[in-house]
Amino acid sequence: MIRINNLHKSYPIGKDSLHVLKGIDLHIKEGEFVSIMGSSGSGKSTLLNIVGLLDEHDEGDYFLNGQEIKNLNEKKGAVLRNKFLGFVFQSFNLISYKTALENVSLPLYYKGVSRKERQKIALDYLDKVGLKDWASHLPNELSGGQKQRVSIARAIIKNPQILIFDDCLSAVDTETEERILTNLEDLSKNKTTFIISHRVSSAKNADKIIILDGGEIIQQGSHNQLINQKGYYKELYE
Ligand code: ADP
Ligand code: MG
Repeated sequence: MIRINNLHKSYPIGKDSLHVLKGIDLHIKEGEFVSIMGSSGSGKSTLLNIVGLLDEHDEGDYFLNGQEIKNLNEKKGAVLRNKFLGFVFQSFNLISYKTALENVSLPLYYKGVSRKERQKIALDYLDKVGLKDWASHLPNELSGGQKQRVSIARAIIKNPQILIFDDCLSAVDTETEERILTNLEDLSKNKTTFIISHRVSSAKNADKIIILDGGEIIQQGSHNQLINQKGYYKELYE
């Protein structure tokens, strides 16, 4: 589903440029649950922004469902994102003057679903994340973990093939994170899922754990494989 070969990305900084991704190879099958780890600044968000079609690479190949991603203009990018992707950001990105229900139902509005139908489906999705009783509340009346669950419901309601969670669970405690992830395993069944996380506890059940360092993949494999190798993951685990 996702084939990335020798991908490079630099950001311009004044007259110079910062080489952030240095030859990434990534092959992900449909339905895989992938955890991306690595220290701050290692290029995790940059990589997932490219995977999620929010940004473009400079060199290398990216094939999504067999389609080469290259020179996407804004419109084409938006169409593909709408079709394939659900994004959950660290900052939630909820609309502050809209209720939980309205926030969750927004993607259906863009799909042209009627108001009544939108509300019915959105309530069902709020129920899936355990927030049915909070439907009429505004974001500032919700805790961090609750806001996170609203943004998860909003990403999943589109029924995207690929879900991307960029560092969105660092703000909640370990127990809440585990509860969200357990729900997520049900909600994201058969979907290709990427999670950036800092906790081994949440990476443990991933099909594939990918460790980035300085813009390169330095380790990848399952928990059982990585726990038996010297390196970042094992040190984090201990
Ligand atoms: P991570 O998500 O692993 O913390 P990022 O991918 O966000 O890392 O960032 C990798 C490097 O690229 C960092 O040094 C960061 O400062 C830099 N960077 C990220 N986004 C930009 C940008 N839009 N412009 C310039 N530099 C950036
Ligand atoms: Mg990041």
